[in-house]
Amino acid sequence: MPHASPTAAPISAAPGHPTWLESVDPATGEDVGRVPVTPAEAIPLAVHRARVAQRSWSGMTLAERVSILRSAGELLVQRSEAIADLVSREMGKPIADAKGEVSHAAAGFNELLDEAMVALAPEVREDKATHSTLVFDPLGVCAAITPWNFPVLMPQECVVPALVAGNAVLLKPSEETPICAFEWAKCLMEVLPADVLQVVFGDEAQGKALVAADIDMIAFTGSRSAGKHILEAAGRGLKRVILELGGKDPLIVLPDADLEAAAAFATRNSFRNAGQVCVSTERIYVHRSIAPTFEAKVAEKAKALKQGPGREEGVAIGPMVNARQKAHVLRQIETAVAEGAKAMAGNEPRPGNFVAPTVLVNVTNDMTIMREETFGPVACIVRYDEIDHAIRWANESPYALGGAVFGADVAQAESVARRLHSGMVGINRGCGGAKGTPWVGAKQSGYGYHSGPDGHRQFAQVRVISRAK
Ligand code: NAD
Repeated sequence: MPHASPTAAPISAAPGHPTWLESVDPATGEDVGRVPVTPAEAIPLAVHRARVAQRSWSGMTLAERVSILRSAGELLVQRSEAIADLVSREMGKPIADAKGEVSHAAAGFNELLDEAMVALAPEVREDKATHSTLVFDPLGVCAAITPWNFPVLMPQECVVPALVAGNAVLLKPSEETPICAFEWAKCLMEVLPADVLQVVFGDEAQGKALVAADIDMIAFTGSRSAGKHILEAAGRGLKRVILELGGKDPLIVLPDADLEAAAAFATRNSFRNAGQVCVSTERIYVHRSIAPTFEAKVAEKAKALKQGPGREEGVAIGPMVNARQKAHVLRQIETAVAEGAKAMAGNEPRPGNFVAPTVLVNVTNDMTIMREETFGPVACIVRYDEIDHAIRWANESPYALGGAVFGADVAQAESVARRLHSGMVGINRGCGGAKGTPWVGAKQSGYGYHSGPDGHRQFAQVRVISRAK
């Protein structure tokens, strides 16, 4: 039975006087709206309601669950424009990119359902003596805790497979983007039975309360420091976790690379979403023989990027999500310059939450900026002489999410890619894999993974039922 508007309310506003999460456009300071914070003490009750709802949800067949969720996909298509507008206003993303994110989510919704349905269906494996059936049972109640930089795609990638698997889900979107995430969630909540999907509003405090509650799994996307905390807290209850964490992606430009293509990629992937992307290019290693041309091209392209509020015509780069993030990025640039880096573009004052797209050359791998995630519009270029040095430097980081190698000799570029530690590496392109591949970070960029058939199965308990043949 579809349960419409009542579930569209947050799980629990404090009776009488709720505390509000105020959402503000980081480009203009304009109010976007507000939602009532979920009191941390209300979370155990929400989890209890989820557990009750999960019994009948998991009692449906896989096909019945998917059929209900298909209607959510239709609502998402109908509401895409309005949700994209909210994404742009809440976190400053240029409207074209916001539309790209939401339409990608809407267009991919049915495919995601199909892929999850196949992945979670029983599978038979046999040898001469034994017939075994692998079944994928729900874990129970899952928490999805998500960041602000892709406020629609990040929830979708975890919440949808978790629901298809027969779990109930509590989604806690980022405190920076609660409204657009809620609008996405409402598309599902309006067609799902009551309490199968609930939204918890708040910040770290609500995230911690959710992790501590009686849940079975946490799918977290966010920073490395919060991920470590969640792993420790979840470990005490042996709760399942998937952690998709930060990155410090390398780009290696080989001497035979198409320099125009490599510079265009470096620019796009360093400055997209104002650098606030987990797989942003944050460290560029370019062969000395081609470095002057490459650096000049990246600087020229960076200077040509139009910066401004996300809904202004032709804007390619918006603001940082908040003043704290701006201060963090400026501090990293200032330290890099003090340590000997030179700015070929940017590093100039900008008003409000804006940071000028900045290209730093004369960078060395031991500089502070090469260690911690920047999450801002900064391209750091290091020159190398030997490919072994570039690979060693790229691998020195504890982060290993994505990466890219540009070179005309694809076999050679692939052999370099194989030696990088990153979970995902693109050759002459970004790191995203073909349909059906997981989204996976290695080393301290990830712990478990989601997406693709193997990823969808992480939201289920595999069991093996065997008989003699
Ligand atoms: P964040 O870690 O500050 O917050 C993420 C979410 O976790 C928010 O909802 C927040 O309220 C909550 N939270 C924070 N501390 C918590 C705790 N101790 N316990 C439970 N919940 C907690 O990250 P952010 O600033 O929102 O997002 C940026 C980070 O996310 C970057 O590091 C970026 O690289 C990473 N990220 C990774 C991926 C990926 O796929 N690997 C994708 C997007 C973003």
